[in-house]
Amino acid sequence: MKSSGRLVVISGFSGAGKGTVSKTLVKRYGYSLSVSMTTRKPREGEVDGKDYFFKQKEDFLRLIDYNGFIEYARYVDHFYGTPRKYVEDQLEAGRTVILEIEVQGAIKIKKQYPDAILIFITAPSAEVLKKRLTGRGTESKELVEKRMRRAAEEAETISTYEYLVCNEEGRLEECVEQVHCIIEAESCRMTCRQDLVKELKNSLKASE
Ligand code: 5GP
Repeated sequence: MKSSGRLVVISGFSGAGKGTVSKTLVKRYGYSLSVSMTTRKPREGEVDGKDYFFKQKEDFLRLIDYNGFIEYARYVDHFYGTPRKYVEDQLEAGRTVILEIEVQGAIKIKKQYPDAILIFITAPSAEVLKKRLTGRGTESKELVEKRMRRAAEEAETISTYEYLVCNEEGRLEECVEQVHCIIEAESCRMTCRQDLVKELKNSLKASE
């Protein structure tokens, strides 16, 4: 029986490590990962088409008009969006797709896909977050401050999420496994197994 794919939204404060968690999940368990589009400039080492599709603002706005995104949002001076086609194709093929997006986007996804699984990843404290953001060395002091302010705003919406996973210092493995377990458990939810329930009922009746 072909099971339908699920959307898994992974959000988290900038510096919480959600990128590493998502990439590890994809590598280890074969989930599909949506590559977002953004108008921000690539950071050192980021590859176009792999980390993001880097676009000019005009191209991004045009795609909005063409209904090319399942969601998009503005985050600290730039646009970010989830291209529609890839996600729809993957779901259609029965695959589980991870979207690594911020909170406004997560809320939009939940409205369109009520069975999407919303997971928030956090660092244990604001100090650890700031240390990670500064240590990354890719952002100016001003940008680090902006991202910390944005984190404070995002903290207000954490309760919208269904799961909260803490990425403790040096315990990435635990965090990855917790997220995987959540996805696995969700796949057994009765509401998601209605096809199997129907089949069982029919075959049991037939064997009476
Ligand atoms: P960064 O600039 O650090 O790569 O990403 C900034 C924020 O934008 C992160 O919270 C990231 O999860 C979020 N983001 C990345 N892609 C998308 C997207 O397609 N849609 C939305 N709404 N947020 C995104």
